[in-house]
Order: sequence, then structure tokens, then C-alpha cells
Amino acid sequence: MKDKLIDIFNFRIGTEEEADGSLHPIITAGSVAWGILFRAALLTALAFLLLSIWDNRDKTAWIFVFLIWGLAVYPGWKQYQVYSERIKKVQEETMCGSCKHFDMQSQLCKIYDEHISINYIPCEGESWEAGESITN
Ligand code: SF4
Repeated sequence: MKDKLIDIFNFRIGTEEEADGSLHPIITAGSVAWGILFRAALLTALAFLLLSIWDNRDKTAWIFVFLIWGLAVYPGWKQYQVYSERIKKVQEETMCGSCKHFDMQSQLCKIYDEHISINYIPCEGESWEAGESITN
């Protein structure tokens, strides 16, 4: 549980391989969005706590805005850039990147319902079909 919270707080930066040997993407668009929401929720709770002990709404609002930007939105945006680079790399370096069954946003094979990675292609090439990038 503690590790999961830390993963969410860090937008799931970690290793590709799970303890059971299965491979999962470290960062997805969903994990970045969830990380931003998680941080924003913590900061909102903090803002209410601050308001209960310090009755200065104007300053609290500005502190809240800067904290949301500095600790939630900006790191989320940076992490999204890391995610985009990773997607680009997966697309360029794997067979799945050119397959019509590949869901780029979730890095998932739609047929096998499994995450793919540079080291793991669920169908091992047997179910590959040309995607839009090939057919257009
Ligand atoms: S069908 Fe095979 S090649 Fe296509 S996305 Fe799924 S695992 Fe990758």
C-alpha cells in the first residue's frame, strides 16, 4: 500500500518488471492524470487545514494556486513529456507500434488485453495486422 501511494505520488516512476515477472508500463496517461488529481486532493485538504488555523483567505488562495502549479500540474506536465517520449520509443522500436490492435494511450494490445513493452510482445508477432501508419 505504501509503495503504491509513493508510485502514485511520483506518477509511477519505477521499474518495468513486477515482482511476479510480468511487465507493465511505468507511466500511462491515466497514471499521470491520477497523480495530478491525487496531489491536488492532498493540497486542497491542506488548504482547508490552513484556512482553519490562519484566517487569511487571499493569501491562502494564492499559496494554494502556487502549490497546485508547483507540486501537481507542472510535475504532471513534465511526466507527461516523459510518457510521450516513452510512447514514441515503444512505437518506433516494437512491432506493436505499427499494428492496428495497439492502443497507444494505454500501451495495451486490444486483442490480448495486455500491456506491451519493448521487451514483451504478447502475440509474438502472430496476430500482427497493419495499422493506420502502414495502410495510409
Ligand atoms: S496483435 Fe500482436 S503485434 Fe498487434 S498489438 Fe497485439 S501483441 Fe502487438
